[in-house]
Amino acid sequence: MAPQRIAVIPGDGIGVEVTVAARAVLDAVADRHRLELSYEEFDWSCRRHMEQGAMMPPDGIAVLRPYDAILLGAVGWPGVPDHVSLWGLLIPIRRAFRQYVNLRPVRVFDGVASPLRHAAPGSVDFVVVRENVEGEYSEIGGRMNRGFPDEFAVQESVFTRAGVTRIADHAFALAAGRRSYVTSATKSNGIMHTLPFWDEVVAERAARFPEVRWDAEHIDALAAKLVLDPQRFDVIVASNLFGDILSDLAAAVAGSIGIAPSANLDPTRTYPSMFEPVHGSAPDIAGQGAANPVGAVWSAALMLEHLGHPAAAADVVAAIEASLADPATRTRDLGGTAGTAAVVGALVDHLG
Ligand code: ATP
Ligand code: MG
Repeated sequence: MAPQRIAVIPGDGIGVEVTVAARAVLDAVADRHRLELSYEEFDWSCRRHMEQGAMMPPDGIAVLRPYDAILLGAVGWPGVPDHVSLWGLLIPIRRAFRQYVNLRPVRVFDGVASPLRHAAPGSVDFVVVRENVEGEYSEIGGRMNRGFPDEFAVQESVFTRAGVTRIADHAFALAAGRRSYVTSATKSNGIMHTLPFWDEVVAERAARFPEVRWDAEHIDALAAKLVLDPQRFDVIVASNLFGDILSDLAAAVAGSIGIAPSANLDPTRTYPSMFEPVHGSAPDIAGQGAANPVGAVWSAALMLEHLGHPAAAADVVAAIEASLADPATRTRDLGGTAGTAAVVGALVDHLG
C-alpha cells in the first residue's frame, strides 16, 4: 500500500517545537504498528508573512489538496495581527476543505490538577463537537451611520438545514461509539429564528439514533454545568460561536491548555482534515524547550484515528496517560520541571 501522506505545517513559536515532538511520537508508534506514513513540511507561518508578505503561497490550498491529512503546530506572532494568521491560513484551509466538524476531546488525566476540586482524575471525559463553517461567524452584515448618534451594526447568522443535519449526525454517531449521550447547546428561548431551527433539526436527527440519549441545554445553563458537573457530559454538539466558547472553557476545566487537542474534520473524507493543538504559539516560552507537547501529540493521535489506525491512536493516548501520571515527566504548565524533550523521551519509551 502507498504510504499515507501528511502535510506538516509547524508554524510559529512553540508550534515548531511541539510539531517536532509529535513527529517523534508518530515515528515510534508507526514503527510499532508498521504504519506507512510520509511527511512533507511547509514553512507557512507569520515568519513567512513578515519575510514574503503572505502566510502561505497563493496556490497553498491546491498544494495541500492531495494530502491525506494536515498536521499543524500553531500560527501567530507578536506584530502580526490575529486576522492575518486566521484569514491568511486557518480559515481558508477549514473552508476550502469543508472541515465542518471541530472536535475537542476533554479529559482530566491522573496527575493533572483540574481547577475544579471535585473533578477526580478520570471522571471527566467528553467531546465538544463544534460546527466549524457556518452559524454566527458569517461575513453578512455591516455598519451604518458611522460616527452619528444613530450608528448601528448588524451581524447575520446563517444556519442551513444541511449544515445542522451533518453536524448533528456526526455528534450522534460519535456518541453511539461512546457513552451514548448527546447534549445540544441552544438558546432558543432568546434567539428567535436560528436556534429554534437548530433544535428542530437536531430533534429530527436524534430520532434516527434511538440508542443515543439526548437533551438540549441553554448555553448559559450549560456553561454553568460544565463547571459544576463536568462528569455528566459525553458529547456536546454546538454551533460555531457556542462551540468556540465551550471548547476554551472545557480546555480550562481539564487543567491546562497545553494538553488540549483539536481536529478540523471533513467526515466525508473528500478533502484532507487538519489536526492541531488548541494552544497558540506561546511567544512567552518559545525557544526554551519548555512547551508541553501533549496537546500536539494527542492531536496526532486524533489524526491516526481519522486515518484508520485506532489501535495506534489508543497506544498514543495510553502513553500520554502514563507520562502525565509520572511527576518526573510533567512540564512547567502542569507544575513540573520537565522540558519538551524529556516528555517526548517518556512517550517514545512507553511506545517502545
Ligand atoms: P494565540 O493568539 O495564538 O491563541 P495566545 O497568546 O492567545 O496565542 P497561547 O499561545 O496558547 O495563547 O498561550 C497562552 C498561555 O499558555 C501562555 O502563557 C503560554 O505560555 C501558555 N501555553 C500555551 N501552550 C502551552 C504549552 N503547550 N505548554 C506550556 N505552556 C503553554
Ligand atoms: Mg489565543
